[in-house]
Amino acid sequence: METRAVDVLVIGGGQAGLAVGFYLHRLSRDAARGRGGPAPSFAILDANEQPGGAWQHYWDTLELFSPAAYSSLPGYRMPAWASPGNPSAGHVVSYLRTYEERYALPVHRPVTVVAVEDLPDGRYRTLTDQGAWISRVVVNATGSWRRPFVPTMPGAEKFTGSQLHTTGYRSRKSFTGHRVVVVGGGNSGAQIAADLLPAAASVTWVTRRPPRYLPDEVDGRALFQLATGHVHALERGDFTGGGVGSLGDIVAIPPVRQARDAGHLEAQPMFSGFTPTGVQWADGRQQETDAVIWCTGFRPDLGHVRPLGLDMNGAAPVTAGDLPTRSRDRAGLFFLGYGDWCGPASATLIGVGAPARETATAAARHAASAI
Ligand code: FAD
Repeated sequence: METRAVDVLVIGGGQAGLAVGFYLHRLSRDAARGRGGPAPSFAILDANEQPGGAWQHYWDTLELFSPAAYSSLPGYRMPAWASPGNPSAGHVVSYLRTYEERYALPVHRPVTVVAVEDLPDGRYRTLTDQGAWISRVVVNATGSWRRPFVPTMPGAEKFTGSQLHTTGYRSRKSFTGHRVVVVGGGNSGAQIAADLLPAAASVTWVTRRPPRYLPDEVDGRALFQLATGHVHALERGDFTGGGVGSLGDIVAIPPVRQARDAGHLEAQPMFSGFTPTGVQWADGRQQETDAVIWCTGFRPDLGHVRPLGLDMNGAAPVTAGDLPTRSRDRAGLFFLGYGDWCGPASATLIGVGAPARETATAAARHAASAI
């Protein structure tokens, strides 16, 4: 199969990959106008068939935390949302499609990266299901949607009902008349539990600790400001009493707030195991259950960098102190969009712009210095 070469290879064409693509595109535009140094060539590889990253897989009624004006990537604002409430996931998908067309970003899809390897001259060889790419820089922007996390529970294999992760939930319609247990005290758990209420026969919401709602007025914009302020305060050595996580776990978007205020979101502590037809509580009571939905989070989708043997901090590779998107262990290797460990609020539309700009600048510098 063909081997191609670029200076900077971006893996992942969701919001993070497109944001760094925007800044790399801007370097090329500036270079063409005689401003700045030479711009690196780049390509973006994306495993999805269509634009939109993880957003194209979210459930039908998902609503953003924030209004369109506060959910934008750099350079081009998300168009206004005409209906009540915040934009839908579908609105984000069409925005991301327009975004990559607007800047003619060189996205290749569907292309799945299998492995990234070191070459003796300091470059990388990226192996895909459609040939290889050689590059001086690799920016990982693969998100976490393809790596759902489900905890192990006693008896889970004997349960005859259905079990699915957030990634498998598309619509409440499939659960009409079902007795459903939803596990998870974050946004997905609260939102899916609220979404199911009109259709399911019963919804039991289970959380490891009592649910912690952010104050009702806090939306994605405020979260971004809080996360950024916290990181900057830490950089200055100031004590802030904790970041966004210290305020709560759940953004009280209107459907969640209404369900909570109506008393329909009373969380139960975690069950202790499964029976063949349901779940069993710590006090021995058993509850017949048709489906368990695990809203228990994700891990960074980074299996393809395993051949590099990076030092890990839990599920995240160790990054440099001066630039949180840069690998501490390998020159020319970056991680963007996975969570606060690689930039404050970098897993959000509004938050990924700043680390994407820093990453594009550092990537271009590395590509130029290595020539
Ligand atoms: P993704 O969107 O997952 O894109 C990664 C891309 O990389 C995908 O297209 C994937 O196919 C591709 N890829 C993965 N592995 C490979 C590989 N090996 N080879 C090639 N390509 C690969 N954020 C907000 O800003 N506002 C919100 O209101 C909001 N609500 C959310 C609600 C839910 C339920 C969830 C789960 C998340 C929400 N988020 C929200 C967060 C946001 O959706 C994600 O953080 C965001 O999609 C991450 O973008 P990304 O580009 O990093 O990853």
